[in-house]
Amino acid sequence: MAAGKASTIAVRAGINSDKHYGAVVPAIHLSSTYALKGFNDKRQFDYSRTGNPTRATFADAIAELEQGSVGIVTSTGMSAVHLLCQLLTPEDTVVIPHDCYGGSYRLFTHLAKRGLFNLVVVDQNDDHALSQALAQKPKLVLIETPSNPLLRIVDIAAITQASQAAGALVAVDNTFLSPLLQQPVALGADIVFHSTTKFINGHSDVVGGVLVTKEQALGEELAWWANCIGITGSAFDSYLALRGLKTLPLRMKQHQENADAVAKFLKNHPAIEHVYFPGFSEHPNYAIAKKQQVSAGSMMSFELKGGVEAVKMLFDNLSLFTLAQSLGGVESLISHPSTMTHAGMEIEAQLEAGITQSLVRISVGIEDIDDILADLDHGLTVSQQG
Ligand SMILES: *Cc1c(COP(=O)(O)O)cnc(C)c1O
Repeated sequence: MAAGKASTIAVRAGINSDKHYGAVVPAIHLSSTYALKGFNDKRQFDYSRTGNPTRATFADAIAELEQGSVGIVTSTGMSAVHLLCQLLTPEDTVVIPHDCYGGSYRLFTHLAKRGLFNLVVVDQNDDHALSQALAQKPKLVLIETPSNPLLRIVDIAAITQASQAAGALVAVDNTFLSPLLQQPVALGADIVFHSTTKFINGHSDVVGGVLVTKEQALGEELAWWANCIGITGSAFDSYLALRGLKTLPLRMKQHQENADAVAKFLKNHPAIEHVYFPGFSEHPNYAIAKKQQVSAGSMMSFELKGGVEAVKMLFDNLSLFTLAQSLGGVESLISHPSTMTHAGMEIEAQLEAGITQSLVRISVGIEDIDDILADLDHGLTVSQQG
């Protein structure tokens, strides 16, 4: 999709849709219920868990941006993941990546323990492990790329093709890039989902999710389940996320410009051992990233010299970066995966996954790049003086 097209979809979503007052911006519809026209004569909406005009406007915009047919807005990113589990029976097998989002890993492993489905966890860059997993004829294969926090990339088109040939549905977590930088449905996936908490809303004031299906029938089945189990997103959150969406194309441009500059700066900084960033030609999966992503995205992580003491010194000496988990907001955030996002993992498992004590993750915001670099330079320099 051309960038201009995406900007138009994002900006125009719901504009001029008010037939009553001619409001330019779509109204927020907070009503939980809707009057029937008369006996047994329903309108388009009847009850807001099932359907809501504000939520529908937001869902349709994301479905269009992702080039899918049905969008379902959920209360959180995790409820979008949970919605996928409604497709599964105890006889079904699910394949998830070994380095998927911690919350997804927790959900799938705990539901599998209760016998709701069989679970296979694989490194999807390991062709042998992947084909062994696909030989079990899974019902669902989950893909997440780039991964968190090491920004590993897997080939969406190739994994999708192999999975579908084995009879599986493919669902891609596209949270780290947004529909502006990667479009899994166009690469063949059946389902794409997001934590809209991150880039799509982009202002760190909503927790939400969205799921888009390529096919209408699968979308209707999942929408039926979303209403049935009661995980649809609120009107107010949908309103805010729709408002955030309007500037997504513009924000992504600035996120990318800043991230490219930060990555280059970090790579050349004497305090840094290694930078994980898919925009570097030396990144092991650079060719795949180049093929399937519009650009690298604004997430990166790095190994700091000097161990955990240096990490503490760095965090204590930053003033622009906020020490917090989450990502994709306009503000720059910094975090320590080992003690924050990945604290639920045993230390040995962390190390096996490449998450060391000196690994630092950043979400590059859209502040002035000179201020971002000056803050990092100060913090990094002081971190080495311990
Ligand atoms: C945050 C996140 C989620 C979960 O979303 P919530 O909105 O926090 O429930 C899922 N996947 C990825 C990649 C995320 O970053």
